[in-house]
Amino acid sequence: RFITFEGGEGTGKSTQIKKLASRLSAAKLRILVTREPGGSPGAEIMRYLVLSGMGKLLGPEAETLLFAAARDDHVRTVIEPALKQGTWVLCDRFADSTRAYQGSLGSVPAGLINAMQRVTIGDLKPDLTIILDLPVEIGLQRAAARRGSGTPDRFEGENLKFHEGLRDAYRKIAAEEPARCVLIDANSDPDTVAGRVWAAVRDRLLP
Ligand code: C5P
Repeated sequence: RFITFEGGEGTGKSTQIKKLASRLSAAKLRILVTREPGGSPGAEIMRYLVLSGMGKLLGPEAETLLFAAARDDHVRTVIEPALKQGTWVLCDRFADSTRAYQGSLGSVPAGLINAMQRVTIGDLKPDLTIILDLPVEIGLQRAAARRGSGTPDRFEGENLKFHEGLRDAYRKIAAEEPARCVLIDANSDPDTVAGRVWAAVRDRLLP
């Protein structure tokens, strides 16, 4: 089974993935937790390039192709081999992040994004995508608290309008593909949100 987690900054994706992973492990399932951009040694190098600020040297199309190269490596070397062995793969961000960030917000033409997705993921589709939904102000507060005095990455610092657009883009994806996506209210304490995530996984993927 392949489960992806999506959402804007500070929505709690990594916390929720950890909680779901331990619940599935307790059910004696084999689990792999991974993330994008990154997830394989080659793709982590590309993650560094994009997030370190060097990505600013690239135009939006070139940056999108770098994300694509990272995904291609990650899918071929990590995700597909794990799925073939029957391991459950939980991935922090996947193709919907490209649709939201580079597509809806980054003005990269849909034609390029679709072509890139065909090459990198082909027929591979998550069995379930958990989209964590949270008012933008709260997500940004959480992200700032987590960061402490550290430097925001290239995306975290963008303005409120950017993050509102991101939230809308994710809500649209959830509405367009209800068979695959579940929109989860992430505006509660982590254990309450984890209960909502677990209910979605149990109802849709467990026998
Ligand atoms: O999920 P995480 O915060 O680790 O993601 C790293 C950053 O990469 C995020 O700030 C996100 O905004 C950005 N990103 C992006 N396009 C993607 C995937 C991630 O801009 N396709």
